[in-house]
Amino acid sequence: MSPLPAARAEIVVDLGAIRHNVRRLRELTGVAMMTVVKADGYGHGMAETARAAREAGANWIGVATIDEALALREGGDTGRVLCWLTVPGEDHALAIAADIDVTAYSVAELYEIEAAVAVAGRPARVQLKVDTGLSRGGAPMDTWPDVVAAALAGEQDGTWQVTGVWSHLAASDEPDHPANDAQEALFREALAVAEDAGLRPEVRHLANSAGAILRPSARFDLVRVGLASYGLDPAPGHTPDLGLRPAMTVRATLAQTKPLAAGASVSYGHTWTAETDTTVGLVPVGYADGVPRHASNVAHVLVDGKQRAIRGRVCMDQFVVDLDGDLPGAGHDVVLFGDGSHGEPTAQDWAEASGTISYEIVTRVGGRMTRRYVDR
Ligand SMILES: *Cc1c(COP(=O)(O)O)cnc(C)c1O
Repeated sequence: MSPLPAARAEIVVDLGAIRHNVRRLRELTGVAMMTVVKADGYGHGMAETARAAREAGANWIGVATIDEALALREGGDTGRVLCWLTVPGEDHALAIAADIDVTAYSVAELYEIEAAVAVAGRPARVQLKVDTGLSRGGAPMDTWPDVVAAALAGEQDGTWQVTGVWSHLAASDEPDHPANDAQEALFREALAVAEDAGLRPEVRHLANSAGAILRPSARFDLVRVGLASYGLDPAPGHTPDLGLRPAMTVRATLAQTKPLAAGASVSYGHTWTAETDTTVGLVPVGYADGVPRHASNVAHVLVDGKQRAIRGRVCMDQFVVDLDGDLPGAGHDVVLFGDGSHGEPTAQDWAEASGTISYEIVTRVGGRMTRRYVDR
């Protein structure tokens, strides 16, 4: 893949793919775009991903924590940023001073933000999150009128501007799930409560990637798109082909290759035994680097143009693949997953093999791997 001496193990991120995906998703949705870059840009690198998204026209960047939002500012991002997950006692003043939109779920949280405004010496930008049925964060509907009233009072006395009202879907990857209609209807009710009270938020938003792609009625003013920005499918089996390009390739260099005689067993616990003579290669990454142990004996990697099965258990630092009689030699390239264009597995393939979702595959990969950026 690279003319340079190959790294032991690395994550290669194509920023061109991220820009392409963000542009494509903006065209499709036709509303303001928030690219979600929490969790280090889903493993792709937060600062680099945010920059690429901005270049492709992202109006907003979304992150979970205040720390992530502040890191974006330290990295030079000056655009609109929203964060949404805090615990009592967190320093909202830093976020307010940095012109970051914070999210409140409750009246108690609004009081905390009010105290922080006094410290920051400038009004806050506050978005209100209502729980429409995910039953995760957000104001329960029965508290919503009180949250709205407190938010309105703070807006009227100049403590903050209420810049958004939002919620989050529970089953957007299952477009026929009844929760989608129910949540959208409840969100419209919550918006009516806010608007009847006199709030005029800049942005009303409900949809993540799958909602943005599959449910036009859920787009409102803004969509919060994470996974699809990285070129991965947020709703396997439901998403139309949008021409999105997976941005992450994980590759390594084979540490050793050798023949293996029929009857020999591989890795801890000897969970796989060669039925015939074969050859194997040693891949120098393991679960400490985010390779799922659940991939043992089920996932594949690409070596020499062919997909090769993992044999035996994935260990902390390494795992073994079946080279089916080929003996390419140590130093040879091995691709764990990528965009699939060279026949390699994708993060989605790894997710299916390991019993998880592609979100977890790309977000967890890292450990001792280095990261390199390309622009294709
Ligand atoms: C992570 C997250 C998103 C992005 O979800 P995707 O499915 O990756 O698009 C959107 N909104 C909230 C509140 C999130 O936590």
